[in-house]
Amino acid sequence: MEILSNSIREIHEKLKKKEMSALELTDFFMDEIKSKDKDIKAFLSNDFSEAKKQAEKVDLAIKNGNEISMLSGIPAAIKDNILIDGIKATASSKILENYVAPYDATVILKLKKQDSVFLGKTNMDEFAMGSSTENSAFFKTKNPNDLSRVPGGSSGGSAAAVASNQCVFALGSDTGGSIRQPASFCGVVGLKPTYGAVSRYGLIAMASSLDQIGPLTKTVDDARVVFESIKGKDKKDATSVMYPEKLQEKGLKDLKIGIPKEYFIEGMDKKVEDVIKNEIKKMEDAGAKIEEIDLPHTKDALSVYYVIMPAEVSSNMARYDGIKYGFSTHKSDSEDLLSVYLNSRAEGIGPEVKKRMMLGTYVLSAGYYDAYYKRAQQVRTKITEDFKKAFSKVDIIATPTTPTTAFSFGEKTEDPLAMYLADIFTVPINLAGVPAISVPCGKINNMPVGLQFIAPWFCEETLFKAGEDYEKLIS
Ligand code: GLN
Repeated sequence: MEILSNSIREIHEKLKKKEMSALELTDFFMDEIKSKDKDIKAFLSNDFSEAKKQAEKVDLAIKNGNEISMLSGIPAAIKDNILIDGIKATASSKILENYVAPYDATVILKLKKQDSVFLGKTNMDEFAMGSSTENSAFFKTKNPNDLSRVPGGSSGGSAAAVASNQCVFALGSDTGGSIRQPASFCGVVGLKPTYGAVSRYGLIAMASSLDQIGPLTKTVDDARVVFESIKGKDKKDATSVMYPEKLQEKGLKDLKIGIPKEYFIEGMDKKVEDVIKNEIKKMEDAGAKIEEIDLPHTKDALSVYYVIMPAEVSSNMARYDGIKYGFSTHKSDSEDLLSVYLNSRAEGIGPEVKKRMMLGTYVLSAGYYDAYYKRAQQVRTKITEDFKKAFSKVDIIATPTTPTTAFSFGEKTEDPLAMYLADIFTVPINLAGVPAISVPCGKINNMPVGLQFIAPWFCEETLFKAGEDYEKLIS
């Protein structure tokens, strides 16, 4: 079907010209889900009757000659840690198994205002903690390029849904790489916006100073369209800011691209390195200026992340007590309130999340706070300064998104350090709060490789321009 190769703008034109109805479009993707998702398992839940209703509403508007928005009638998949009023939001955790969201996240409200169609909620690592979606309490999502491999994580369901054409776009969340790494593994585009560009209201919190919601799409322009629709200040999220409109005239050929030598390290897959270097060469041949730069504190980023992130996780997880949300223990020895709390948390929360809660409580405890948490915050500032310095010399930075292509199921579950290394090139970006996009740039043995562009704060448009020009260069 032609729809599969259409961008959001093209589909929008077709809807407006009545070459296709929103209901036909939704029906098409629902059929795709019915035939494909038995194998891929990207979705945790679907609400097809509601999706049809939304589509019919758009068709009525078109029939009545009303203006429709860019995302009207466009079918989307939503990561299960983003709240949709009246729909289950489990964050792939047993402790939220039966939790029904009582309100809409701000991003959902914005999409609803445009009449986007929600096809369902996607699988993820429990509470967004992981890099393979293997930490979901429910089931594993497969990589559409090779069903024996992971889709990446934690937004693995969203990436797999887009890559297998079960939706036009998806929303994910990125705390340390969870949009870009699965986008890279599955061969789609993934954007982590500037911290504060998109409201986090209604996103089930993992680590609040790092979390951002962003799109997973087939093309860079689709990512721009979705980002434009969800960004902006929200009075319900005090960390969100008024997005400063920055004009960006420069295309790829006029850009000075920084290549940080710290992102080509020992231990990374040599084939990935070769692909990335080759793509950088193509951009240079097209006229871009390539300059080697330093981001000297890159080597500390993972350690800093694994102190700050668990600290925030431990406090965010305190609200799950077996009373307020979802799951509660049925154990007969839960005779007082404290044992209800303890048993519910023990039964309802999975091992990776528990590990991070314990680590976080430890680094925040008296006596260790200065040695770990405070120190990590100081190094975080250094990482941010690295980026500031780099952006005084170059317009944009290009790196690999991940050190390897998608790995096999079980390959890294026994070795947490190896799993954590999957995020080595994405984590520094969250610590600094800058925006970054992963764009598919080639394949190794049929497995996609992602090229990451990083821009200064609130310069998403620089990413889109560069990404689009790069897409044209390789198409
Ligand atoms: N994979 C990283 C982690 O496990 C990042 C997760 C995320 O971005 N939500 O923490």
